[in-house]
Parts: sequence; structure tokens; C-alpha cells
Amino acid sequence: MSVDVIAKLKAGAATPGRVWLQGAEPVTYGDLLAETARMANALTKLGLVKGDRLLVQVDKCEAVLALYLACLRAGVVFLPVNPGYTVAETAHFLTDAEPALALVEEGRVGDISRKSQNAMGLGSFLAIASQAESTYVDPICGPDDLAAILYTSGTTGRSKGVMLSRENLASNAEALVGLWRFAEGDVLLHALPVFHTHGLFVATNCVLFAGASMIFQRSFSPDAVLAALPGATVMMGVPTFYSRLLADPRLDRAACAHMRLFISGSAPLSPATHAEWRARTGMAILERYGMTETNMITSNPYDGDRRAGTVGMALPGVEVRVTGADGRPLPAGEAGSIEVRGPNVFGGYWRMPEQTAREFRDGWFVTGDLGAFDAEGYLSILGRAKDLVITGGLNVYPAEVEAAIDDLPGVAASAVIGLPHADFGEAVVACVVPVPGATLEEGAMRDALRARLAAFKIPKRVLVLADLPRNAMGKVQKAELRREHAALFD
Ligand code: ATP
Ligand code: MG
Repeated sequence: MSVDVIAKLKAGAATPGRVWLQGAEPVTYGDLLAETARMANALTKLGLVKGDRLLVQVDKCEAVLALYLACLRAGVVFLPVNPGYTVAETAHFLTDAEPALALVEEGRVGDISRKSQNAMGLGSFLAIASQAESTYVDPICGPDDLAAILYTSGTTGRSKGVMLSRENLASNAEALVGLWRFAEGDVLLHALPVFHTHGLFVATNCVLFAGASMIFQRSFSPDAVLAALPGATVMMGVPTFYSRLLADPRLDRAACAHMRLFISGSAPLSPATHAEWRARTGMAILERYGMTETNMITSNPYDGDRRAGTVGMALPGVEVRVTGADGRPLPAGEAGSIEVRGPNVFGGYWRMPEQTAREFRDGWFVTGDLGAFDAEGYLSILGRAKDLVITGGLNVYPAEVEAAIDDLPGVAASAVIGLPHADFGEAVVACVVPVPGATLEEGAMRDALRARLAAFKIPKRVLVLADLPRNAMGKVQKAELRREHAALFD
């Protein structure tokens, strides 16, 4: 059993002056403990009890992290929602999760109140909390108690509520802190959203478990990141952070001289971006793999070779296997379904028992991602099972074709999809975005790919687009691309 998140918070607060958030007015662990006590008291005053849900849908701000920890202290289930969702979209989360209280931006209280009786502005809540006692007697909570419901990104369909226990969070934090060598002296540059597992749990819990501190930025901007790098030691980002920073000429070795680690996840980091980052900064980005349901699953090594295009090995305590159509584990080199087992894996989807049952097989969670191990145990993600292209009876893994395309000059990003085709069943189609100023020519691109890929993997068509549709986490929405171009071969 792992040490609980709140025990780590209290341990941090036992050292006077230890800084949690850096800035003009630093927030210490002691301040954070007191703030979470006031918030927990305010939740109690508002009638919330252990097991109730608190929905939080606000713009990124420091209070969200304190609210997460206050919920853990009170045994209230923390339920963050992307503030980018419209009121109509948010209604789904309100009816699905039935929160006892929904904290939203003040300007939204009116609209949300029409969908839920229990909406309150964050500012009003903070005002109540500021008047509350700064000591709090935490109710007893166990490792299997529900800590949070986090909704998936909705890349492949409607977002599902993922029930995460305290042990799910704590075990993953312990594994990551060890693996990534987080220590007291670390300063994490935090520019990720806080409604998603990456910025919320991976980032926050690594800092908390190490007793380290963070530079908290309310949104990602290359200017702000470049200004903060000299005071930071670690950054966690999605791949678009890295490609946007690479577009800035100020990014170089000197800019990263104080950094010890850059981590990437949530979406595939193209080997081309990995190589360019290394050439410009001298540092190899460490790519890891995870999902809302499982927290983090695999990571490239801290000391060993960080292999571009792979997500590394299973975390300590986590088991990963790749299985074939018959459900049996496959040897290295063979592509199949990625399955996970361990203390990191969630208990089930909120109020979706059938969906939960479908996605577990003999105690293993079937991730819905396809992949293959190499001989040294590095896992490569080959795309989502739903995105696999079957053309003329042959499997084409989008990630492989995308890596080849991203290597071509003038390509900024690509997404490979399968579209209905009379002869082939599905045809491989590439959607590509040029770098600013470059022109991409379909015929020339297909010719160039012939040197790298077998004929059946060569896209039948290359569509040059101004942009790829992405969701809030920067993930390409392939279902949308498929819908939009469904009639390409009619
Ligand atoms: P939904 O489940 O609602 O369709 P989602 O799967 O995008 O949305 P998340 O839980 O945020 O929701 O994302 C997990 C997925 O992100 C993984 O299943 C995987 O497909 C992808 N992913 C995460 N890290 C990586 C990575 N390093 N490389 C490739 N894919 C990754
Ligand atoms: Mg998913």
C-alpha cells in the first residue's frame, strides 16, 4: 500500500517555509494545508459529506489544486470538467455525476443553475472558505475510497467518468517520483490544464510526493515558458508544447541550461520533434504513456536510452502485455492490443457497468490502444484500435505511416486515417499540415514515402489541410476527419 496523498501534504507542511508555489508571494506547504482545511470546512458547511461529488469547472487557477486536495481531505469526490465545454455540453456531466455542488465561473452561475440546483461561483465559495477555520479534522479514508471522477478526453466518443481511488493516485505518484528522480529541490514548470490527469495528477502529485515546488502558469504560452525555464528544473508537456517551442528561435541550449528533464505525453510525440528538440537543446525528451483510466502506464528510462517513437517500459508495479486476437500474450515484435494490470488501474466507469465489464478481460484492462514491444522491452504505440486501417485485408498502423510522413521536409503535422473504398474496403489517407511557407505536393510526397513504406501502406490520397481538428488536450480527432472526408472515394 502506498502513502496517501494527504499524508504527503501533511509531511510537506511539517517543514516550515517549504515552498509549494513559487512567485512574488510564494505559497508554502503550510499555507496549502491551511487553505485545504478552510475549503474542507466550507464544503462541510455547505452540506457535503464523504462520497458526495464536487464538480469544478473553472478557468485554470491555483485554487483548483487546493480544491482537489481539500476534497481528498474531506472524502468528497473531486470532479473537474474542462472549462472549454459549453453549458449544453456541461449538462451531461451534471446529470451523469449528480454533484452535490458545482463550482463554476461567476459569469456562468445563471446558465448552469438552469441545469443544476447546486451551482455556485468559485469566488463566492472562496469567500466562504476564507472565513472558515484553518484547522480541520480529516475523516478516516481508506486506500480504496473514491478520490476523483475524471472524465476521459472524449477523443473516440462521449467522455466516460473514470472512478479513481486514493491508492490509484498514490501508487502512481510513488512510481513516477522514483522513476523520474523527483526531489525536494525540483521546480516543476506547470503549464498544462488542471482538469485532465496529466496536469492534475501526474504533475501535482509528483511535486507533492517529492516535497518539491512549482511555477504555476495559467495557460501555455511559449513566451511565458521561455521566461520561466531558467528557474525551473522539470517541465511536463503535451507534444504541441514542444512543437510550438521549437518554432521560437529563442529556444536553444542556453535557454534550457537549468532544466534536467522534459517529459511528454497525452498524445504521440513525433520522432521528428524528438530529434529536432535534441539537436536544438541537447536534451532528449522523455516520452511516457498513460490514460485517464490507468494513470501512467509506461515511461522511457531516466538514465538509459530514451527512444523516439516509443513510450518505454512498464512502470514499477505495473504490468503491461500485448495480446493477439485470441487474447493470448504476443512475443516482442508482434503488434496487438495493449492491456494493463496494477494498483494504478481504475475501479470502473461511473454508472457504466456494462462498459466497464467490456473493457476488462481476466483482470486486465484493455486500453483500446494497439502496440508492440521491441526486443529490449520498449513499447511502441501504433494507434488506437478504432483507428486501425484495414486495407485490402492488410493492417496499417497509422502511427507508422505518420512517423514516415512527419520526416518529410515541409510537414508540420499529419494524421493517417482509413476511408471507405469500393475495392480496398478502406483506403489509407493522409491528412497533412505544411509548415508555414512550405508547399506540399501530393505526388511528390507519395513518391518519397515509397522508399520507406511497403506499397499497401502508402496513402492513396494525401490531403493538404490548414489544420487538424484537435480537442482540448491537443489530440487529433480522427473520427471528425473520417466524417468530413467520408465521401472522398465515392
Ligand atoms: P476517450 O477515451 O474519451 O476517447 P482519450 O482516450 O483521448 O479519450 P485520455 O484518457 O485523455 O482520453 O487519453 C488516453 C489516450 O491518449 C491513450 O489511450 C492513448 O491513445 C493516448 N496517449 C497518451 N499518451 C500517449 C503517448 N505517449 N503516445 C501515444 N498516445 C498516447
Ligand atoms: Mg480513452
